[in-house]
Amino acid sequence: MLTTLRRIVLEFSQNADLSDALLHMVSQVKSALGTDCCSIYLADYQTKQFVLMASDGLAKDSLGHTRIGFSQGLVGLVGQREEPINISNAHEHPQFVRAPEVQEDDLHAFLGTPIIHQRKVLGILSIQQKNARNFNENEEAFLVTLSAQLAMAISNAEARELISEDSTHNAKQLKGISGSSGVAIGDMVVIQPKVQLQTISIKKHKSHQHELERFKLAVHNTRAEFDSMTKKLSTVIADSSLDIFEMYKQLLDNANIGHEVEGKIAEGWNAESALKLIIDGYIVQFEALDDPYLRERASDIRDLGNRILANLYEGTTDVTAEQSTFILVSEDVTASMLAEYQHKGLKAIVSMSGSNNSHAAILARALGLPAIMGIDKIPLGQFHNQHAIVDGYSGELFITPNSALLKEYEHLIEEEYALADKVKQVEKLPAITLDGKGIELQLNAGLSSGFEHSINAGAVGVGLYRTEIPFMSQSCFPSELQQTTLYQQVLASFPKQPVTMRTLDVGGDKALPYFPIVEDNPFLGWRGIRITLDHPEIFLQQVRAMIRANYGHNNLEIMLPMISDVSEVDEATRLINQAYYELSSEIELVEGVKLNKPKIGMMIEVPGVIFQLRDFASKVDFFSVGSNDLTQYLLAVDRNNAQVSDLYDSYHPAVLRALNTIAQESSEYLVPLSLCGELASDPAGAILLLAMGYDKLSMNPHNIAKIKWVIRHIELQRAKTILSHVMSFSSAKQVHSYLREQLEILGLGGFVRAGM
Ligand code: PEP
Ligand code: MG
Repeated sequence: MLTTLRRIVLEFSQNADLSDALLHMVSQVKSALGTDCCSIYLADYQTKQFVLMASDGLAKDSLGHTRIGFSQGLVGLVGQREEPINISNAHEHPQFVRAPEVQEDDLHAFLGTPIIHQRKVLGILSIQQKNARNFNENEEAFLVTLSAQLAMAISNAEARELISEDSTHNAKQLKGISGSSGVAIGDMVVIQPKVQLQTISIKKHKSHQHELERFKLAVHNTRAEFDSMTKKLSTVIADSSLDIFEMYKQLLDNANIGHEVEGKIAEGWNAESALKLIIDGYIVQFEALDDPYLRERASDIRDLGNRILANLYEGTTDVTAEQSTFILVSEDVTASMLAEYQHKGLKAIVSMSGSNNSHAAILARALGLPAIMGIDKIPLGQFHNQHAIVDGYSGELFITPNSALLKEYEHLIEEEYALADKVKQVEKLPAITLDGKGIELQLNAGLSSGFEHSINAGAVGVGLYRTEIPFMSQSCFPSELQQTTLYQQVLASFPKQPVTMRTLDVGGDKALPYFPIVEDNPFLGWRGIRITLDHPEIFLQQVRAMIRANYGHNNLEIMLPMISDVSEVDEATRLINQAYYELSSEIELVEGVKLNKPKIGMMIEVPGVIFQLRDFASKVDFFSVGSNDLTQYLLAVDRNNAQVSDLYDSYHPAVLRALNTIAQESSEYLVPLSLCGELASDPAGAILLLAMGYDKLSMNPHNIAKIKWVIRHIELQRAKTILSHVMSFSSAKQVHSYLREQLEILGLGGFVRAGM
């Protein structure tokens, strides 16, 4: 049954024509379950009706015409109840509605299951039988499983239709999550680092000859790669292991897969689609085999397919010289991609994976680039070189926008510039409320190598210097000397202002290429301080470098990430003291000068810490809340997972109450408190944190002037009134709508949406 199910789903997703795919699918289900009828209805949300799209058993004339209201008939009931309905005699059911045109008078048994994607009912799949009987558990399980799998394929099909070649020239609109605010217009450049056949959606192409040539060239290049791999590896591994490359080359032959792909191209498919159709077919065949050795070959075929695919894309996705500015689009925009392209005309990013607090989004904000994360899953290749608008406020991407929409957004961009100019006026002024309450604004730095540009942003030192980037961009741990040189530059850039350097915080979503960590649950695993305390040699080297670099500057503060237990603070402090006393005596001996001992603080990111603030208070010099991780751990929502991004919300009442408790207790224990997560750079967030009593807010340089403007245009008293209202709400939705309204009243709405 599992193989049948897989085949049905695979064939469905491979069919470029949605109505054809549905027709084929209902026939397959009917025959697999031995019923008399199988039908599929798709939801039309405009008219609030289900439309009979395909059926094997109901009258053909009714396809595309028969419509059933969302609250009508048994189909409507399945949609309303969002669960399967299994009835032995449908005609006797009180909600049965007779639709003569479908000719179902002799069909009595009915089983309908909803097709639901991300909580939205996309349609209903039903089977019917002449005999009045209840369908059995296996039949029900089959239909439910199939519906769940079809949901993804149908939603992809919807997206596919949206951008198909025949669609009108109106702007096509895709929705993602706002990763970084701002608006940009430009041509999209698709970068596909890990191109996979699995993610390709099939498409026809008019020029067979052109596609054939592309395929032949890709095969040629793939062969050449295998030759060079064999050559390289033959010196280090046994000859028999290299047979795999010979096998790959044979498969590429005209007599084999190569020939079949060419056949598909001749049928009108583009090269990628033809390759996918053939390779997927083989994979299904191999995976269904009983022999475990042969079954394993499915992965070889997949690998081969992906290699050819990579060569098909070769040369089509590079940022070309003539693209002076562009929007970067990728399946998974990484921090390193941003680092690579930031100086090459990058205007905005669009990533299919990731979420608002992925490090790529944080970096985009640090660079002042609009970003959309977790956009609908659609085949990316088709975006290449298309003109688009990125609305980083709403998370909307408009592809090939019409001139009216372009004009509207060009106007919004002008307003954005005007707003940026306006807030720039207060950049150098203190962050002080209308009624005289001051708050320090500091910088988050270290995510990009160009921290220097932030010197003049108007901040009072650095509240979070992330040290992991230099570790991530190397091929081994940086030496103490290398680290010392880098930290010296940072400390020297902020004379007389505190610079809070965080000790290495890798693990989770930040991997070191030379120090692989494989875990099922990385965010709950070996991360931050847990790694460095297990490797005191790495920790000691880093803090020695920091303390040495601090010589002559005396503005270093050390911050410990991911603390969850007091013993971690004790142990880290012991190691920092050890490094300090070793270096002090070394330096005192040579220079005759006493070395300053840095303050030691900890991040509050793990919820458990909130219940032990009193215990921690006596052990550290300051607290700094990492609201990005605190939100993820308090709400048990992966900050990188687009699937659950709706649940990740730092304005969730639980998070806000936790932040308020932290502020109250820190003040009670007299521990200076700052917040260095992304919430600090959000206007509404800054107002709430000010009211809660946070001493410092740390944020990326692009937001300093904006947040200063906000602070300088509100009274502390007003902020406190807003906070007290917010604290009474029980849902994030209420919090957001209230805060949006308050920002508009304060004349600060332009900071959270496009336009002034
Ligand atoms: C945080 O978790 O809020 C934080 C500032 O650290 P990072 O985003 O680097 O995990
Ligand atoms: Mg963190």
